[in-house]
Amino acid sequence: MDFLILFLIYLAICLSCMVVAIKFSRQSQEYFARISHHVIQVIRPVIPQWLQVAVQLALHRLIHRRNSFFLVLHLVLEVVVYGVYSWEVVPYCLELGFRHSILLLPYILLLGKMYFFYLCCTRDPGTISPSNLKQLLKVYTYDGTLYRRDRVCPTCELMKPARSKHCRVCDRCVHRFDHHCVWVNNCVGGLNIRYFLLYLVTLSGMAAAVGTMTVRFLVQVALMSNLSQAMYVNAEGEHVPVGILFIVQKLFLTFPRILFMLGFTLLTFFLLAGYTAFHCYLVMTNQTSNEWYKHKNSCHVDNSWSDKRTWENIYHRGFVANVKEIISPETVQKKIR
Ligand SMILES: [Zn+2]
Ligand SMILES: [Zn+2]
Repeated sequence: MDFLILFLIYLAICLSCMVVAIKFSRQSQEYFARISHHVIQVIRPVIPQWLQVAVQLALHRLIHRRNSFFLVLHLVLEVVVYGVYSWEVVPYCLELGFRHSILLLPYILLLGKMYFFYLCCTRDPGTISPSNLKQLLKVYTYDGTLYRRDRVCPTCELMKPARSKHCRVCDRCVHRFDHHCVWVNNCVGGLNIRYFLLYLVTLSGMAAAVGTMTVRFLVQVALMSNLSQAMYVNAEGEHVPVGILFIVQKLFLTFPRILFMLGFTLLTFFLLAGYTAFHCYLVMTNQTSNEWYKHKNSCHVDNSWSDKRTWENIYHRGFVANVKEIISPETVQKKIR
């Protein structure tokens, strides 16, 4: 079972990295900064001074500045997964007579994902500027708890419209701020959240399609080679039918790269599907991640809002209106009309 243990360790490492990355991408930058500060404190005695300075500088740039690190990492992981799929899984599937249209599905989803990814990275999330401030102030009313009238952003020195927030990474106030996403190196706000949702859906679809095709291929191989009928001789010299673990180990030894890719893809799929479902819930209830997070914290820490009033989501206007607001944001022009 050595290979299985190795494989499980690999899955555990992948899962831990993904959870940290998703948590980092969703929550405030201070959360990650606190963790890195503690890590530096622990390793400080064993690493030289120049390396400490270099690590701190690198972390500062990674956390507090817009940078392409996660964007490149994202593309590299995709190249690796699609490389294994294209060069190993697809040729075998063609030999086994799989339909071409099914094998093409992951590539169609990849094209769609690239398009929405590009829009997420490049489209304005709703940057608030002196020229559009007056109009954006009219889009949402102040709820009196999370958002209060007459508050000014100390950095931009502009009045804060309801549901806006200053992004410290991008150094700007964003209309209907959701969160800053390191994977697209951009804020997710009122004007680009529809692209972000479609990006999440197509990305989850990609992981599901590649994972499904790979599982189908492995099942087919196991059936054709009659692995489930195989027997092995145990320590007592008896012939015993092989179990599922033996079949997985046999497949792992025969197709190691495919199994590693499949493990990564399935983990990615479950995390992405959960994250996509969470964002669908936010859309249906007309909340931003920022509002949900503050609301959740207020339940644990009563003094997070000075007047201790319970937050009532006044922006929730029913399922259809909430979805419409995401698809066709209440922009300045519509309000003026
Ligand atoms: Zn600001
Ligand atoms: Zn930002």
